Amino acid sequence: MAQRVVFLGAGDGGMMAANRLARMMRQELDRGELEILLVSDSDRHLYQPGLLYIALDQAQPDGFFRPQSGLVLPGVQLLVDPAVRVVPEQRLVECASGRRVEYDFLVLATGSHPDLDAIPGLREGAYSFYTLPEALRLRKALQEFRGGRVLMAIGVPHKCPVAPLEFMFILDDYLRRAGLREKSELVYTYPIARLHSLQAVAEWTEKVFAERKIRGETFFNVESVDPGAHKVLTLEGEEVEYDLLVAIPPHTGAQVVRDSGLGDAEGWLPTDPRTLRMKGQERIYVLGDATDLPISKAGSVAHYESEVVARNLVHELRGEPPTTLYDGKVFCFIEAGLEEATYVTFDYRNPPRPASPAAMIHWFKLAYNEMYWLSLRGLL
Ligand SMILES: Cc1cc2nc3c(=O)[nH]c(=O)nc-3n(C[C@H](O)[C@H](O)[C@H](O)COP(=O)(O)OP(=O)(O)OC[C@H]3O[C@@H](n4cnc5c(N)ncnc54)[C@H](O)[C@@H]3O)c2cc1C
Repeated sequence: MAQRVVFLGAGDGGMMAANRLARMMRQELDRGELEILLVSDSDRHLYQPGLLYIALDQAQPDGFFRPQSGLVLPGVQLLVDPAVRVVPEQRLVECASGRRVEYDFLVLATGSHPDLDAIPGLREGAYSFYTLPEALRLRKALQEFRGGRVLMAIGVPHKCPVAPLEFMFILDDYLRRAGLREKSELVYTYPIARLHSLQAVAEWTEKVFAERKIRGETFFNVESVDPGAHKVLTLEGEEVEYDLLVAIPPHTGAQVVRDSGLGDAEGWLPTDPRTLRMKGQERIYVLGDATDLPISKAGSVAHYESEVVARNLVHELRGEPPTTLYDGKVFCFIEAGLEEATYVTFDYRNPPRPASPAAMIHWFKLAYNEMYWLSLRGLL
């Protein structure tokens, strides 16, 4: 009888890992010895980093969406039917339609999700760019903006730890081009003692903020937002006025994870940092934002992890121990404005060192935005 691997979540990591496994086990698929099922809650795939460009009026949404059916490789069966529960004891995933999908191995790649309701007043008082409706709403607000204080408030954890910085740098250029920079004050806040969770990025940011006259404030944790008075109240006791509030809401794991009683209180799944097996579960792997690993929640992480998970599944399906190990590698471009970018790369053992921003790196980032669709097919 064929063995079945089910991937839950057809975002960056799930799609990539399912396609990689199909590439690695082509013969088994052709002989009918293996089935690969990819369970998705949508028939469209969004390239999420595109939301930054949409919010800042640098791109239209269409180019960042593709039909899921056009992204799966032959041998990967796409099931558009949101999962409502995972039952590891029965090796079963239950879907919204009532369908019950059994598995030999399961990969949880259900991502992370911004929670606009985590802070009172945030949904009404703030703009965000982490979903398409929010990005479009922010774009409109920026088109109508005539100057004033832009306050950025950041909740943790959140995916793409550099996206709020990229937003500030691009916004700085955007307002200059619009002739509004002199009439605007840019204030970036961060919840801990420095401007970014990564020490090296925080130091680099401080330098660039000084050059660009962007104010950085630390120990800034939003307790509530008063949309009527245009004020943010912080846990530290501050009361700060704004004209435009841009917020990155704190994220949680997927609802299905919490509804299944898996994961911690916020829905992050306990994951072995090396093999990426779910702790306490022999037949479940976890990848991407859904893990509880103390590393960036980023597409590049999902990318590198998808390779580890696919290789370990090949071992498992052949009755071998999972010997491929993840080294914690992360690679992040950082847009440093409208015309240049830098990048950081690091892993469990080596800290990041931001390179000097350059136009070439910005162009490479724009090229990667197109290459993403190839990487989903396991080609990069
Ligand atoms: C504005 C923005 C900018 C970003 N920029 C970058 C960047 O420059 N570089 C970078 O590396 N990363 C960036 N990221 C982060 C990156 O997009 C994520 O880290 C990456 O998508 C994580 O991959 P994932 O597979 O873990 O989760 P996702 O890609 O989010 O996929 C998870 C999927 O699971 C689905 N799912 C959830 N629950 C269910 C269910 N019950 N049933 C079925 N499906 C379900 C979700 O709908 C989703 O499609 C950015 C993100 C944002 C929002």
